[in-house]
Amino acid sequence: MSTLKTAKNVLFELKKAGYEAYIVGGAVRDHLLKMPSNDIDITTNAKPFEVSKIFRTIPTGIKYGTVTVLYKTEKFEVTTYRIDGTYTNLRHPDQVTYSDSVIEDVKRRDFTINGLLMDERLQVIDHVDGRTDLKNKMIRTIGDPKQRFEEDALRMLRAFYFQSKLGFQIEKETRNAIEDLRENLNNVSSERILNEMIKIIQGPHAKKAYKSMVTTKVHEVLPGLKKGLEYIQNMEEMPFVDPFFIMCFALNDGVIPKAWSFSNKHRHRYQQAATLANMKPEFDAYILYTYGLDLCLTANKVNHMLGRSENLRSEIEQTYKHLPIQSELDLKLRATEIMQITGKKAGAWLKDIQQEMVLKILKNELKNDKDMLKSYIIEHVK
Ligand code: ATP
Ligand code: MG
Repeated sequence: MSTLKTAKNVLFELKKAGYEAYIVGGAVRDHLLKMPSNDIDITTNAKPFEVSKIFRTIPTGIKYGTVTVLYKTEKFEVTTYRIDGTYTNLRHPDQVTYSDSVIEDVKRRDFTINGLLMDERLQVIDHVDGRTDLKNKMIRTIGDPKQRFEEDALRMLRAFYFQSKLGFQIEKETRNAIEDLRENLNNVSSERILNEMIKIIQGPHAKKAYKSMVTTKVHEVLPGLKKGLEYIQNMEEMPFVDPFFIMCFALNDGVIPKAWSFSNKHRHRYQQAATLANMKPEFDAYILYTYGLDLCLTANKVNHMLGRSENLRSEIEQTYKHLPIQSELDLKLRATEIMQITGKKAGAWLKDIQQEMVLKILKNELKNDKDMLKSYIIEHVK
């Protein structure tokens, strides 16, 4: 947590040392909207090494002119005024060039509502007409939208993020530029895209953002999300991150495009849940045993949200609670006992017969009782 009160102290210290310094970006925007802020960014003409002489710092982004200042128990990202250099592959700027001018620094920023400054008396300084846009609830690029999106295509997704976070409109020229340049998103790194998507999904006005993503056809350039976004924009309640992706991939014939940089764990879970949902199963003992409670509940939730089925939640929970057996470890006859009875050494056959017995028990064709299992073994293992 960092507070404006402490940020003011940081500004004072920088000014005392002869530098200019302002609070900038999201913190100013959120302050004017009377919303809580995640973090407070400070912009200054002091160079990183100069900032480090005044405060305890961590060199978190020296490449971009940023150091994290530790002040009391709080943290602030302090960045030197800069003009961004050329962009390669529509990604990050190749190099940063420091600037002496705070006006140049705000002009490199993405949207007018993110280009406001605030001094140590919390007076707002506006070089980009950000206050008007804030009042009119408008997301508009600073400068020519086409040029700004050509510099960094991720800004297009950032427009939807701020829409999802704030519920604002995207200004018409900005929106048209997004529609024209949407394919440039193909060149943005998958990590940056996923990061921004997750922020969009979590916003309180996500539905508004999804609608804009569909009208600007951005949903067509996000691999595997097209049908999902078309569906979700008309839903009442918005899904959280996991159900969002599972719904989209279920509607994408269960295919998760490689382009998404999910962790292996997430990809695996999304894949299983999407496949299970598309099987439209009856959540019987066998399915519950095979997939586990969590995946079954998720698949059920997704199918319910997709209007494919009733919400079977409590039935699923009941079935699970009453499963006659939850794993082969619960068999009343242990592996060593099976080997004793048969006189055979451990091998693949053992696992097979255990599985077979579990399935019979799940189908109520066999009882999980020591004597019954013994007889079954004697009859079935040659
Ligand atoms: P949040 O509430 O999500 O933190 P924020 O406005 O603080 O919103 P950050 O991603 O933390 O957004 O970025 C801080 C500031 O840096 C932004 O307000 C904006 O001025 C600038 N900025 C960030 N990313 C870009 C970008 N891709 N292009 C131009 N300016 C950017
Ligand atoms: Mg921020």
